Amino acid sequence: MSEEGYFGESESEVEVSGSDVPAPARSFDDLSLHSILNDNIRKCRFAVPTLVQKYAIPICLAARDLMACAQTGSGKTAAFCFPIIEGILREPVPGREGRRRVSIPLALILSPTRELAQQIADEAFKFCYQTGVRVGVVYGGTRLWSDNLGGVDILVATPGRLNDLLDREMVELRKLKYLTLDEADRMLDMGFEPQIRRIVEESGMPGAELRQTLMFSATFPKKIQRLAGEFLRKDYVFLAIGEVGSSTSRIEQEIIFVQRNQKHDCLGMVIDRQQMHGSKSNKTLVFVGTKLKADDLEIWLRSRGYVAIAIHGDKTQEERRRALKSFKSGSTPLLVATEVASRGIDIPDVSHVINFDLPTNIDDYVHRIGRTGRAGKRGFATALFCDGDAPLAHKLVHLLESCNQQVPDWLIQKAAESSTVTDRHERRMGSSWDAPKRSWMTNKHGRNSFYW
Ligand code: AMP
Repeated sequence: MSEEGYFGESESEVEVSGSDVPAPARSFDDLSLHSILNDNIRKCRFAVPTLVQKYAIPICLAARDLMACAQTGSGKTAAFCFPIIEGILREPVPGREGRRRVSIPLALILSPTRELAQQIADEAFKFCYQTGVRVGVVYGGTRLWSDNLGGVDILVATPGRLNDLLDREMVELRKLKYLTLDEADRMLDMGFEPQIRRIVEESGMPGAELRQTLMFSATFPKKIQRLAGEFLRKDYVFLAIGEVGSSTSRIEQEIIFVQRNQKHDCLGMVIDRQQMHGSKSNKTLVFVGTKLKADDLEIWLRSRGYVAIAIHGDKTQEERRRALKSFKSGSTPLLVATEVASRGIDIPDVSHVINFDLPTNIDDYVHRIGRTGRAGKRGFATALFCDGDAPLAHKLVHLLESCNQQVPDWLIQKAAESSTVTDRHERRMGSSWDAPKRSWMTNKHGRNSFYW
């Protein structure tokens, strides 16, 4: 298959596995969705389904469980929302149950961060317009409850806040028909596994056979495979779009070697260079390692005349919302962020991601740079690499090579120097980063070809 997806992805990058997998849709018309839902899709100006939508929606409409690995920005929110809304519209429940302050949803969408939860809910609100299907969203950091959550059909939640509400008996999951885990890998990275298990296994939610479960994840490491094995029905369909865990070659990546005490000057140079050759959108996301550094860098940038704002976990929800809004609108073109802003947040037109501080693992790097190059657009990513980042060199070289990017000689040298016994062992066994695809190939296809 050589057809191009809506966002420029190639269908040759699609892997589907499972028995009796429904055929992909070529258009939204193929899906025979409810007319109101189709109206809303038109209002959103979605002309054709993205690749993940073409494959995932028919699978979900056929009531199959799904484990999907897809790039950030691939249109996965609609891929899981449309079948849920369609399912609720096809089989309307006879009158909503629940007291005014108790939510007994039919669908639950779990998300790792407040921002992603709000973003999913915003999309779901649009898709549900005039359908009668009600959407609610709950996450920490806001007032505990709003009265109008009783009667919600689709609840979007972060795991911590949902457990809190379950404990207070403000949410009941006994009627749940659809469970979606979005950014499942991220939720586990953030330590949410116990909370997720409590929700899925101890809340009174119907078991795997009685509900439909959809898991979305950018990567497919062992812990996600295990969770999929436990939460999904045995005949679940596996769908992978693009190389799992990898960034696309649409993102041009540059790694600059810099001494730690020269990072600020280098950052100024990189921003000035971009502004000189500026594209229409100059939105730049700068990642730093700590909340303190985010505040310091905001001050430093402002003192140099740049228009910048910081976002991190110590800011109030209102401050975070305002920062994102002013960045999204373009009035503040520089957003300094800690990891909190790195996954799942859909900010249109981010032209440049700068890793002022590199993360310690390659998955986080992939997710960070995935903030640019979205929706078929080209993106640019710059990383300031200093001596302390040497442990990342080896995986960075592999990633750049797999994305057809130029690999600086000095980085190859650093990778060779930092190749410890552990690295050599990992290379033989497959690193955590490439493990998803490798183990997928060995498990499901009986192939055992490694990448290395
Ligand atoms: P997501 O991966 O769900 O965060 O989606 C990324 C962006 O693509 C969002 O701004 C969506 O509104 C947009 N999008 C999703 N599906 C389509 C489509 N079929 N056509 C055009 N844009 C879409």
